Amino acid sequence: MQSLLWLVLVIAALGAASYWRLKLNVSTLLIAAVLAVGSIAGQVGQLAWLVFLLIALPLNISSIRKQYLSAPFLKIYRKIMPEMSRTEQEAIDAGTVWWDGEIFSGKPDWQKLHAVPAARLSAEEQAFLDGPVEEACRMADEWEINHKRADLPPELWQYLKDNKFFAMIIKKEYGGLQFSAYAQSRVLQKLSGSGIVLASTVGVPNSLGPGELLQHYGTQEQKEHYLPRLARGEEIPCFALTSPEAGSDAGAIPDVGIVCKGTWQGEEVLGMRLTFNKRYITLAPVATIVGLAFKLQDPDGLLGDEKDLGITCALIPADLEGLDIGRRHFPLNIPFQNGPVRGKDLFVPLDFIIGGPKMAGQGWRMLVECLSVGRCITLPSNSAGGTKSVALATGAYARIRRQFKLPVGKMEGVEEMLGRIGGNAYLMDAVTSMTTKALDMGEKPSVISAICKYHLTEKMRQVVIDSMDVHGGKGIVLGPNNYIGRGYQGAPIAITVEGANILTRNMMIFGQGAMRCHPYVLKELYAAANEDPKQALDEFDDALFGHIGFTISNKVRSFWFALTGARLAGAPFKDETKGYYQSIERYATNLAFLSDVAMGVLGGELKRRERLSARLGDILSYLYLATAVLKRYDDEGRQKADLPLVHWAMQDSLFRTEVAIEELLENFPSKVLGKALKLIVMPFGKRYSRPSDKLDHQIAQILQTPCDSRDRLGKGQYLSREESNPFGMLEQALDDILASEPLYDKVCKAANERLPFMQLDKVAERGLALGVLTEQEAELLKRAETERLRTINVDDFDSVELMADKSLLESGKKKSSKAA
Ligand SMILES: Cc1cc2nc3c(=O)[nH]c(=O)nc-3n(C[C@H](O)[C@H](O)[C@H](O)COP(=O)(O)OP(=O)(O)OC[C@H]3O[C@@H](n4cnc5c(N)ncnc54)[C@H](O)[C@@H]3O)c2cc1C
Repeated sequence: MQSLLWLVLVIAALGAASYWRLKLNVSTLLIAAVLAVGSIAGQVGQLAWLVFLLIALPLNISSIRKQYLSAPFLKIYRKIMPEMSRTEQEAIDAGTVWWDGEIFSGKPDWQKLHAVPAARLSAEEQAFLDGPVEEACRMADEWEINHKRADLPPELWQYLKDNKFFAMIIKKEYGGLQFSAYAQSRVLQKLSGSGIVLASTVGVPNSLGPGELLQHYGTQEQKEHYLPRLARGEEIPCFALTSPEAGSDAGAIPDVGIVCKGTWQGEEVLGMRLTFNKRYITLAPVATIVGLAFKLQDPDGLLGDEKDLGITCALIPADLEGLDIGRRHFPLNIPFQNGPVRGKDLFVPLDFIIGGPKMAGQGWRMLVECLSVGRCITLPSNSAGGTKSVALATGAYARIRRQFKLPVGKMEGVEEMLGRIGGNAYLMDAVTSMTTKALDMGEKPSVISAICKYHLTEKMRQVVIDSMDVHGGKGIVLGPNNYIGRGYQGAPIAITVEGANILTRNMMIFGQGAMRCHPYVLKELYAAANEDPKQALDEFDDALFGHIGFTISNKVRSFWFALTGARLAGAPFKDETKGYYQSIERYATNLAFLSDVAMGVLGGELKRRERLSARLGDILSYLYLATAVLKRYDDEGRQKADLPLVHWAMQDSLFRTEVAIEELLENFPSKVLGKALKLIVMPFGKRYSRPSDKLDHQIAQILQTPCDSRDRLGKGQYLSREESNPFGMLEQALDDILASEPLYDKVCKAANERLPFMQLDKVAERGLALGVLTEQEAELLKRAETERLRTINVDDFDSVELMADKSLLESGKKKSSKAA
C-alpha cells in the first residue's frame, strides 16, 4: 500500500513537471528527489531506483541519447517526410509568426498580448478620415455607380487621385501618404460602408500590386520613376497573376517569358518575349501599368546555366504595342474595373523585371512575402466596415419597420439575426484592430492573414444574408433606396479573391500554421535537411526531444484542463472574462496536442486529409478571433455595457472551437484513437453552447437603441446625416421614431384610442387638435413620418429604365408594328 502511494507521488511529480514544462534534467532531479525522500522513509527500494536509472540515464546523457535514439529516428524521419516543392517552401519561409505562435504553444502569454498598445490613428490619419474619406463617401452615389454608369464618376476618380487614396502604402519620400496599416484599415472600413466599388477600387492598389512590390524589391531607378507617379495618381496599377488555367494553383501559370535579344526604342537589348493570357484582373481596364507574373525561361543560356528560372514579376506599360487590355468582366453586378489582359510575343527589356534581372525567378517569393500584409488589410477591413454599417442599419430598420403592431426587431426570430449581426460586428472590428496593430509593429503574419481573410469574409457573408432576411422585400428590390442588396450580391467576390475560401480554410491555415507556428516541426524539418551529419543530428536531437516533451506536456495539460474545466488556469483578469482566458488556454493546449497526434499518425498524408487539416485550422482560427475580442474589450476600457457583445463573440468562437475538436475526433482515421483522444481532451463533452436567446435579445436591444455600445460598434463609419447617405438617414430616422413614440402614446391616450403607428402626420394633427402636442412636437411627428416612409419604401421604374440595351426597344417596336 505504501509503495503504491510512492508510485502515485512519482506519477504526480511527473505530471507536475509536464504541466509546468520543466526541462528534462530538472524533471529528472525532481523524480530523483521524490525517490530519495521515499528511500529515507524506507518506502522506496532498489528496484525502483534501477528502473529510474535505466530510463533517466540514456535520456540525460546526450551522447547515448543521440546515438541510440535520435539517430535512428532521424533516418526514419528522412524516409517518411514528403519532399516540399519550391513554392511550398517559399510560402513557409515567408512572413512572421505572432500571436498564432502563442496559441500553438498551448500556453499563450497574456502579458505579451495586453502589452501590445491599442491601435490609434495619428492626427494626420484622423484628418484624412474626417476630410477626404468623408468627402469621397459623399461623392459616391451607389445607384449611379452600380446601375447607371458601371464605374465611379470621373470627378470621383480624380478626387481619389488628387487626394492620394491610391498611395496610402507609398512612403512619404516618394510623395505617398505612408499610413499605418491600422489607418489603411479604417479608411477601407469607412469607404466600404459607402459602396463596394469605391472600397475595392481604393483597396487594390494599396494591397498586393506594383506599389507594394516596387517598394520592397524595385531597383532605385524603378522606385524613383514609378512611385511618385503612383502617389500622384498619374499611374493606375493592376497586378496580373491569374490565368484561365491557373486560378487557385497560381504557381502553375502557363504564361511565359523567353529570354532573348530584341529591339527596344531603336536599340538592341537583352529582353524577354512574353506570351500570356490573364483574367479577372482588378483595375486592368483602366490601368496604365500592369504588374505581370509569368514563368521566365532562358533556353539559350543568355543569363546563365539555368533554363527554367521560375515565376518572375515585371512591370509592363499598358500602352505597350500589342497588349490586349481594356475589356471588362462583370463581377456579380458590382462593376468595379476588372478584366482580362493578354499578350503574344511581346518584347520588353529585362530591366522591366521588378528589381531588375537579378530578381528573375524570385516572383513567387516576392508575392507570398507581400501577400501576408495586404491580405490582413484589404478584404478583412472591407468585410468589417461593411458589417459595421450593416449592423447599425439593420438595427435601425428593425426598430422602425413594424408588423403585427410591433417593431420587427422585437420579434424573437429577428433577434436571432440581430444577435449574430451585432456579435460578429464587434468581433470583426476587434480582429482588424489587433491584426493591423501587429502589422504596424513590423509583423508579417502569413497564417494570421489567411485566418483573417477566410473568417472575416465568411462572417460578412453570413451577416449580409441575415440582414437581407431582416429587411425582407426592402433588401430585395434594387434602386437608389436599397443600401443592402449590392452587398449581398457582392459577398461571393470577397470569398473568391486573394485565395478562394475553401482552399484557404482546408489547405492554407493549418497547412502553413502547423509548419510555421509549431515550436519544433520546422526545426525538425530543417535539421533533417542539413547536409552536415553532426550538425543535423545535434539539431534534430534538440528538436525531437523538445517535441516529445512538448507533446507529453500538452497531453497532461489537456487532461488536467478537461478534469478541472481549466478553472485553475491563469487569467490576467478576475472578472466576467476570466473563464474565457482559461478556456482559450485549454483549447490552445488541445490544439497543440491534437496537431502532434494528427501529424504523428498521418505524417505527410495530413496535407491530403484536408478536412482534418481544416478543423485543426478552425481551432487555431477561433482562438485567434476570441483573443482579439478580449483584447478589444480591454483596449476600450472594459466597458461593461459591451459585455453582451463580448459574451456573444466569445461564446460563439469557443462553441465553434469545441465543435471543430469534436468533429476532428469523430472523423479521425482511427476510430479507437479518436475516442481515446476524446477521453483526454473532452471527456465530459462540450462546455459551451451557441450564444443564448437572452444574449441575442440584449444585442438586438443595443442595435435598436442609440447608446454608447451602439456608437462603438459603428465607430468610424460614414454616418453623416445627409440626404445622399442612406446609412446616415437611417440613424436620423431611428432617433426621430424613438422620440416620436411617447408623443404618439400621448395622443392615443388623449384620444382614448389605439391608433395605428402610421400616418404620423395625421397623428400630429390630432394631437394638436386635442391640445396635447406643441407645434414643435407635431413637427417632430411629421418629420418622423417622412423618415419612416423613406425607410420602408422601395423604388419602382418604368420598364424602359431597366433595359440595359435600349436598342432592343426599337427592334421591339419594329416587330410589333410589323405584327400589327
Ligand atoms: C472579381 C475578381 C477579382 C480578381 N482580381 C484579381 C487580380 O487583380 N489579380 C489576379 O491575379 N487575380 C485576381 N483574381 C483571381 C482570384 O484571385 C482567383 O479567382 C482565385 O485565386 C480563385 O481561382 P478560380 O476562380 O479560378 O477558382 P479555382 O481555382 O478554379 O477553384 C475552384 C474552387 O476549388 C477550390 N479549390 C481549389 N484548389 C483547392 C484545394 N487544393 N483544396 C480545396 N479547395 C480547392 C477553390 O477554393 C474554389 O472554391 C480575381 C478574381 C475575381 C473573381
